[in-house]
Amino acid sequence: MSFRATVLTLYPQMFPGPLGISLAGRALADGTWSLDPVDIRDFANDRHRTVDDTPAGGGPGMVMRADVLARAIDAVSPASDTRPRLLMSPRGKPLSQSDVRHYAETPGLTIVCGRFEGIDERVIEARNLIEVSIGDYVLSGGEIAAMVTLDAIVRLLPGVMGAADSAHEESFEDGLLEYPQYTRPAQWEGREIPPVLLSGDHGKVARWRRAQAEALTRRRRPDLLSATAPQPGNKEG
Ligand code: SAH
Repeated sequence: MSFRATVLTLYPQMFPGPLGISLAGRALADGTWSLDPVDIRDFANDRHRTVDDTPAGGGPGMVMRADVLARAIDAVSPASDTRPRLLMSPRGKPLSQSDVRHYAETPGLTIVCGRFEGIDERVIEARNLIEVSIGDYVLSGGEIAAMVTLDAIVRLLPGVMGAADSAHEESFEDGLLEYPQYTRPAQWEGREIPPVLLSGDHGKVARWRRAQAEALTRRRRPDLLSATAPQPGNKEG
């Protein structure tokens, strides 16, 4: 069964975009996953195909209407659809590699891309939209955030990544940033590859990489170390 992504957007022409290239694009072509961009505007019911209106209570910008968006959602994801429904939103939980791994095991996703100031809160509640952020900064729309989310998921789908285990040692998979990588030439601009990597001693190489990953993580992202530290007396932690 292939992973099925439906993206609700005002700019369906942005898709597949970068998702049609390289790993994700090959997987799309071979049917490992499918991508269906749907134009929210097709669900407007006036002559001007209006999808937004002014914010209740005043203020700048426009807000996407609940009724139009709900019709679009219901058309692609009826109540019987088991796929999670995401709303890309700077207010959401920041997407993590463990969220990505979780979504890669679902039958797929419906992803709503916001535009304008945002979308009417009532449709978020009524259609159980899970708000997901890709980081603490504001984009002009949810499309690129949806692409980021799908790219991270698709590379984990069975058969997509070349080397079967290249996902396991990567940044975040074990709570650590990845160790430094090197390749030929052995000498470049007077810089050498760390000799241990040329020693042929796999145990020593593994220990060196682990130590490097830990040092790098401690220096750059100490928050990752505390996040994975065992919580005493709390198995759920
Ligand atoms: N006024 C809103 C921002 C709207 S940006 C606020 O302050 O929260 C317009 C749309 O871009 C949003 O509806 C959302 O879909 C998308 N977007 C912006 N930043 C994002 C982020 N960091 N992660 C995910 N989606 C984002």
